Amino acid sequence: MKTIGLLGGMSWESTELYYRWINEGVKRKLGGVHSAPIALVSVDFEEIEALQHNGQWEKAGALLAEAAQQVEAAGADFLLICTNTMHKVAPQIERAIGIPLLHIADATAERIKEEGMRTVGLLGTNFTMEQAFYRGRLEKAHDLKVIVPSEADRQIVHRVIYKELVLGIVKEESRHEYLAIMEKMREAGAEGIIEGCTEIVMLVQQEHTDIPLFDTTAIHAEAAVLKALEM
Ligand code: GLU
Repeated sequence: MKTIGLLGGMSWESTELYYRWINEGVKRKLGGVHSAPIALVSVDFEEIEALQHNGQWEKAGALLAEAAQQVEAAGADFLLICTNTMHKVAPQIERAIGIPLLHIADATAERIKEEGMRTVGLLGTNFTMEQAFYRGRLEKAHDLKVIVPSEADRQIVHRVIYKELVLGIVKEESRHEYLAIMEKMREAGAEGIIEGCTEIVMLVQQEHTDIPLFDTTAIHAEAAVLKALEM
């Protein structure tokens, strides 16, 4: 089995889910007391979040590139960046390491296509919903049609992520806001919704709606398990 490299802490609330789900996935596949060989480096999110909101992506990228090198030095065979948003600096990270990156948007797009869907709604941080590194990758590299919420709704989605979810706060009223926004995207033609932020699954799970959900945390963790078990 290969060693899975995790670049986590963005936020640790979702890194905890990666750790659990990857281990559960390996146990499901191999049985017994099997668990996943993992090399994890977890950063201080306060620092990253400040750099994001000041637009200092180059600096954030350098910090994460260094952390990724530590993951590689710890013996990882491939790397997962445990956040959608920080894939904005994925090229900078990739240049700094010699192991392959398992890109969260690629894993998610593959799953969507397996389900036979072409048009999806995307929820995530404003960076993820608006910029080419993510939305554009789904559209250009994977030929998906991506619907995002209105400007006002994007502000709600973004605020709930940074003021609640990354702090581990899950509010019923925020769940209702998210579900209403998902409904609007369905009316606009979305066949399914990408939970394109690794904490959204803490707020909205499939049991809350009949719109098919693509939880990027679970999809990414599952892709890691399959890659680790590849012979
Ligand atoms: N975990 C979130 C994501 O998947 C947001 C935190 C971050 O800005 O990295 O985008």
